[in-house]
Amino acid sequence: MTHLTAELLRDGVVSEAEIAEAAGIGRPGQAIKLSPDAFHVAGIHLGAGLVQIAITDLTASAKATASFGFSLREATPDDVVARTAETLAGLIAEVDGPRLLGVGVAVPGPVNADQRSILASINTGWRNLPLAAKFETETGLPVVLEHNVSSIALAEVRYGIGRRVPAVLYVYLRTGLGAGLVVDGVPFRPGGHGAVELGHIQISQDGPPCSCGNHGCLESYVNERVLMRAAGLEGVAPSNLMERLEATETWAPTLDRLTDSLAIAINLLTPDLIVLGGHLGEAPDSMFAHLLKNLPPRVMPHMRDILRIERTSFGPLSGAFGGAAVALDHFFYSGVRQ
Ligand SMILES: [Zn+2]
Repeated sequence: MTHLTAELLRDGVVSEAEIAEAAGIGRPGQAIKLSPDAFHVAGIHLGAGLVQIAITDLTASAKATASFGFSLREATPDDVVARTAETLAGLIAEVDGPRLLGVGVAVPGPVNADQRSILASINTGWRNLPLAAKFETETGLPVVLEHNVSSIALAEVRYGIGRRVPAVLYVYLRTGLGAGLVVDGVPFRPGGHGAVELGHIQISQDGPPCSCGNHGCLESYVNERVLMRAAGLEGVAPSNLMERLEATETWAPTLDRLTDSLAIAINLLTPDLIVLGGHLGEAPDSMFAHLLKNLPPRVMPHMRDILRIERTSFGPLSGAFGGAAVALDHFFYSGVRQ
């Protein structure tokens, strides 16, 4: 332990701290504390048409952030990677801080077991895309990928409202409706690489076609494009999209469908905490009150007392903090410093 601590002190990762009072017998102890600025990482959220970037310290506190939109129809993955790398290089120069250990990229779809490729992303159409290698070539930094909403769920468990919570389900609404589950601190990856597909629970066999090829999935009713149309809006979705919907006749059926699907998810996955992000994280209090009133009667009795529903800790840039949390786990806290 002394040897390890000496190494960390030498690297500047920890520093000596005051001990309030010596206790017990034997060699006096020495308290140490993490030096958050010893290293930085970058987190990137690659969404369908939107990229968010954050450089953070070792506690996932932001040092610099940026975001930009892109046209899925016109931009190739290589275009998006090149522009992201260029924007990241600008942020790194702006921060002018300690060595950046690596990059975590939160991607819109499940990733392969070694976290190097996107397997299949429905909303972008990207399949078997070796994105980590592309980012490494463009940035010169080590890169690791993770499913986007799993990444944000991990960020909540490590640095946000999900700390010390055994099972956290994160539900994220933007282009689509995604979910991520972290159990006992580990992202749940069914089949070694899958994702929790809450948005593709079929709630009506006669429903509208879904991007996955099925009909009547939750996501075919609850996605940004459909909700924008229902609110009579065009262009970039406003941050108060859910509030704007509240006065429309779409609101009640939207809430019912969301409640139905969350009840199924709670009974199957038994989360202690559900965190809502994206447009759901910015929804009015009335939506949270509706869920807290209508979900408990529909789940198993032991879940009624346990369940909590909260807003995301990370605001609109939650995906970038998700990427940073993955990078911190991979390149720092797991000991894989390169
Ligand atoms: Zn579907």
